[in-house]
Amino acid sequence: MRLGILGGGQLAWMLAQAAEPLGVSVAVLDPSPDAAAGRIAEHVAAAYDDLAGLDAVSAGADVVTYEFENIPAAAVARLAALGVTVLPLPASLTTTQDRAREKELMRGLGIHVAPYALIDAPADAAAALTQVGAPGILKTRRLGYDGKGQVRVATAADLPAAIRELGGTDLIYEGLVAFTRELSVVVARGTDGSLVAYPPVENEHRDGILSCTVAPAPALPPAQAEAAQAIGFAVAEALGHIGVLCVELFDTPDGIVANEIAPRVHNSGHWSIEGAVTSQFANHVRGVLGLPLGDPSARGVAAMVNIVGTEPELAALLAISGASVHTYGKAPRPGRKLGHVTLVAESSAALAAPLAQARALCAAAWDA
Ligand code: AMP
Repeated sequence: MRLGILGGGQLAWMLAQAAEPLGVSVAVLDPSPDAAAGRIAEHVAAAYDDLAGLDAVSAGADVVTYEFENIPAAAVARLAALGVTVLPLPASLTTTQDRAREKELMRGLGIHVAPYALIDAPADAAAALTQVGAPGILKTRRLGYDGKGQVRVATAADLPAAIRELGGTDLIYEGLVAFTRELSVVVARGTDGSLVAYPPVENEHRDGILSCTVAPAPALPPAQAEAAQAIGFAVAEALGHIGVLCVELFDTPDGIVANEIAPRVHNSGHWSIEGAVTSQFANHVRGVLGLPLGDPSARGVAAMVNIVGTEPELAALLAISGASVHTYGKAPRPGRKLGHVTLVAESSAALAAPLAQARALCAAAWDA
């Protein structure tokens, strides 16, 4: 079998790693000459809307999938015209490319989301404040990632300037959720509608970028864990999603509030390579190729620490008990994800010391 992937970064690289033992060959489309996945997959170096590139990445492929949600509509249309099966289906992309549609979908499913109002002109500020109040967060509806395209609004008086800063239109203003911690849940859905959910995890961010994930989320009551998984299932079913999907969540004293949906493998699921029976990458490959999904259960407890900005010394990371290091082969740059370290242990107590060591090394490299 053969899989095409739009995007050739680290997510595609780990998808290709998961495809290889199944005998699935992989081609990736990515304009960057040094795309991470190019180390192990056939790399078509062309723009995402380049017709010859799209032809090449899909040639002979059973399915084409993607590693990021901001795929140009023209690319999907071209693949459809070629008769290529693209999974997840377009509904997953069109909904998750737009924060407003995403929130509307979840609210319609009875999932708690932050109060929000749409802003299409500076004059919409007053109505948005009446509806949502302040403080809040103003976000672009499209193309935001890692905390980019959003501005904190401390008081009502700050909203007009924030609207101007983000371009005045196509914005969503959300009430600030008083969360105790951030969680996420990764689920996979097969072509036959079968569903599996990973244990919900706890995520810590720094500068708007994921810095650390602990799996399963410590001390999450079983009813809350089930509620989080039910959110993932409801979203996957409503979208008719095929493959892996992640929902980012806030844990609050009043229960779980959903923030956003990623229709793809997610950084908060990287722990599953070593920490789960079947990784999110293996389950995405299985899902889109119509193969049976694998067991998402955790093997013990795991943590994932992102390597951002510069890389700590490899030997120092490998000296940590239970550590597995994944380096993406990318050039160092402030705020850029260069790799991650996963730690697996039998218990939270046994995880604490190695996690602290990995965090210290990665934090120093982030600061460097
Ligand atoms: P997002 O791009 O929506 O994932 O937002 C990036 C980060 O901003 C989240 O991980 C939260 O830490 C924070 N954030 C986003 N939306 C809200 C909200 N409505 N209330 C509180 N914090 C938020």
